[in-house]
Amino acid sequence: MWKNKDNGYEYNYSLYITKPYRDKRDRYILVISIVILFFLILIVKQSLDMINRKNAYTLYLKQAVQAEQEQKRQEEQKKQEEARKQEEYKKMKMPKLTEEGKQNLENIYHSETKKAFLTFDDGPSSNTSAILDILKQENIPATFFVIGNAVEVHPELVKRAYEEGHYIANHGYSHIYSKVYSSPEMPLEEFNRCNELVQNAIGVPEYNSHLFRFPGGLVGGKYADLKQEAKQILNDNDILNIDWNCLTGDAETRFPTEEKLMNGLIETSEGKNSIVVLMHDAQEKTATVDTLPKVINYLREQGYEFKNFYEIIK
Ligand SMILES: [Zn+2]
Repeated sequence: MWKNKDNGYEYNYSLYITKPYRDKRDRYILVISIVILFFLILIVKQSLDMINRKNAYTLYLKQAVQAEQEQKRQEEQKKQEEARKQEEYKKMKMPKLTEEGKQNLENIYHSETKKAFLTFDDGPSSNTSAILDILKQENIPATFFVIGNAVEVHPELVKRAYEEGHYIANHGYSHIYSKVYSSPEMPLEEFNRCNELVQNAIGVPEYNSHLFRFPGGLVGGKYADLKQEAKQILNDNDILNIDWNCLTGDAETRFPTEEKLMNGLIETSEGKNSIVVLMHDAQEKTATVDTLPKVINYLREQGYEFKNFYEIIK
């Protein structure tokens, strides 16, 4: 600040000379400060954003890795569990013919307690699924003597029956007597052909039921002698056979009434502790399906416990 002391006045020249400049400079400073502040804020914000994004990304990566590891762990656990179940299941469902099994079959009709073995021949057919539904609902194990050429048509029904715990036994491939009994060796061939189809249907390559039922039964008829020879050949190959000691008579007439089937069951089961019940799940046997709940009720009322051939050939 300049001052003129000569005339007693004091002038502050800077107010006149420098004020515009000072204002301009102040404005510059202000503007520059604002700009710098703006950029500083921007930089800080960008930096914070970047740090946040980086943290979020790191967290995301960590979580993704953890999720992947957890998924892998669960998948591995599931696989192990499946394999264990599959192994247990196969063991459980694999009929094994032992000396004990042979004895069991020989003594099947000599039981202290009341046992009923429901058996269904000549399937599978479109009736089989209805029979399986009823058995499932009633929680009853049964045995299916399947025919190879029907297994070819309905492999899925054989698989279902097997998976639902029923015993898949063997009734040959063709069921045509002139073919099955064309030689004493033919029943074994028919057994093997049918068994292979069952193996494929259920997806168990080593499956063998070890159990055959001669079409038309073992006893009597014009092939009686040949059947005895065939039985020996089958036995030599670890294949047993079983007929029945009880039947509804569902194969005797084409369209039997429920009354007739129930009478057949009542008559042929009377006084027997252990019964192997012959029924059929062939295409035309709708009466068997319709009567099955009554058959089950009646046998339950009579105190029978339901078994299948896993009880015999374990
Ligand atoms: Zn048959």
